[in-house]
Amino acid sequence: MKLTEIFNSNKLSLSFEVFPPKSDTAFESVKRATEEIAKLRPSFMSVTYGAGGGTSRYTLDIAKNIKESYGVPTLAHLTCVSSTKETVRTKIEQIKAAGIDNIMALRGDLTPELEKGDRSTWAYRHAIDLIRDIRDISDDFCIGGACYPEIHPESANQAEDIKHLKEKVDAGCSFLTTQMFFDNNLLYNFLYKIREAGITVPVIPGIMPITKANQVERAIKLSGSFMPQRFKSLVDKFGSNPDAMKQAGIAYATDQIIDLFANGINNVHVYSMNNPDVAEKIQSNLSDILG
Ligand code: FAD
Repeated sequence: MKLTEIFNSNKLSLSFEVFPPKSDTAFESVKRATEEIAKLRPSFMSVTYGAGGGTSRYTLDIAKNIKESYGVPTLAHLTCVSSTKETVRTKIEQIKAAGIDNIMALRGDLTPELEKGDRSTWAYRHAIDLIRDIRDISDDFCIGGACYPEIHPESANQAEDIKHLKEKVDAGCSFLTTQMFFDNNLLYNFLYKIREAGITVPVIPGIMPITKANQVERAIKLSGSFMPQRFKSLVDKFGSNPDAMKQAGIAYATDQIIDLFANGINNVHVYSMNNPDVAEKIQSNLSDILG
């Protein structure tokens, strides 16, 4: 099932993100966690590619299992930055053979080695190159791209970031998923600007429930996100009490999602990572709202 069918249905929905195991030995436990999340019957689940410390070779196994065993539509992430054209083509063909209709096409983060390297030799410099290659192989995929309400850290300014985003969408993205953010006003401002720039595809906000104090620093480092005072106070007050921090972090994420729904957003993606209990609590907090 193509995710655009979900986005065009006008129903409120939640989807969840998981990441593949870091090692062979972790495979079974990660698989079980993703199955617990799949049992919540989210609108879809995305499986990251090499991000969050997961290994890329299991992305497809996890995505295929979720789809085949639980009937949950899946979105397989794929990055291209240090790959050859041949490797990427093989991956795309494997995704197609697995019956997965949706690919999240990403450049991938630059490691310090890549940052120093000679970019003129790279087969892929930006996600747009990957999107063009996926489209060349098959017109059937529903392709998603990443977007950044608080600007991608490598962009000089928002106008430049949005210009490249428009090119990426025009190359064949059917939807965009946002980087995490903790202040919904940033998302609303971003939406206004991209709509003005002529980007009309669905934009799915990505919400990260912060359930441990030590995730805050990592989240800021990863995303450069602005932390509102309301969120900082919550971490100051509850950060040293794990149960209280978890409850407060889930409540904060729930509140963000309710505000998004109330302001006309129908589909929200939750970076629940491999935590079924966090996914379950957020979903049950919204049970009457989701209907
Ligand atoms: P791009 O779209 O290529 O953009 C990167 C930068 O280049 C931006 O500054 C952009 O403005 C600029 N740019 C784009 N096109 C051009 C152009 N033609 N000319 C000049 N500049 C240009 N990483 C993983 O490793 N695995 C994952 O599974 C993963 N999932 C993610 C999911 C989401 C929703 C998000 C938001 C990020 C994810 N990431 C993942 C992280 C992502 O790989 C990084 O944020 C990466 O730095 C940029 O990827 P991108 O696809 O946005 O790149």
